Amino acid sequence: MATKFIGAHVSAAGGVENAPVNAADIGATAFALFTKNQRQWKSKPLTEENIRKFKKNCEDLGFSSKHILPHDSYLINLGHPERAGIEKSRDAFLDEMQRCEQLGLELLNFHPGSHLKKISEDECLQRVAESVNIALDKTKGVIAVIENTAGQGSNVGYRFDHLARIIELVEDQTRVGVCIDTCHGWAGGYDFLSEEGYEKSWEDFEATVGLKYLKGIHLNDAKKEVGSKVDRHASLGEGYMTQKTFERMMKDDRFDDIPIILETPNPDIWAEEIKWLNRMAGQ
Ligand SMILES: [Zn+2]
Ligand SMILES: [Zn+2]
Repeated sequence: MATKFIGAHVSAAGGVENAPVNAADIGATAFALFTKNQRQWKSKPLTEENIRKFKKNCEDLGFSSKHILPHDSYLINLGHPERAGIEKSRDAFLDEMQRCEQLGLELLNFHPGSHLKKISEDECLQRVAESVNIALDKTKGVIAVIENTAGQGSNVGYRFDHLARIIELVEDQTRVGVCIDTCHGWAGGYDFLSEEGYEKSWEDFEATVGLKYLKGIHLNDAKKEVGSKVDRHASLGEGYMTQKTFERMMKDDRFDDIPIILETPNPDIWAEEIKWLNRMAGQ
């Protein structure tokens, strides 16, 4: 029995129903997707046909909703310091949550937000939590999954305690979770490469956030040094974290039964990367 569910952020071009097909084509048992164009505020609603075909393809190809990790639009800033900006973001986030509901999906991965140097980090985190509360109130069954960031620009969420702070302020804690992006963690100052750094980082995670909130992993190597706060993904083994880090993770049962998603820069080798990861996981 496989314990690791490994895939990539695949294309949904031509319709969301194509994402599970693209995932199966590369040998994935988990996948991520955008349910709308990630660089536009508005998109056409999902049609009945999109929804029916998506569900059927997932079922036929053996993908269960807990191993599917949709990602929201890059435009959304749930910690926006200004009224117009936050309202627009909250509306768009609600639309994203509702799309997940329609597709029968239970997770929605999002980046917490940016303070744009107009409010403090903590004020920004409070706004993010409030935004999550508003969206959870208007939807059912979908967990808001906070992704840690590299800390580039004025982004919050680059420390585990930022994630914990948001969770603390969310009213329904059964509907909030986190996704750890290894490249972002590394850029944010977590040394996953050395054996000591690896253990310390995940112990810190357990102590501040708690493993029960871990709903997904983005598996990316990093092009910049640890603590650089620069978000540049590399293919596995082609960055500073080296294959050793990812081999260690595949043997670590803390990452069982959650979607492990590649966002590495070369889709042509995703099938190969997935194969290698499965081998390292002994499956
Ligand atoms: Zn992301
Ligand atoms: Zn990511």
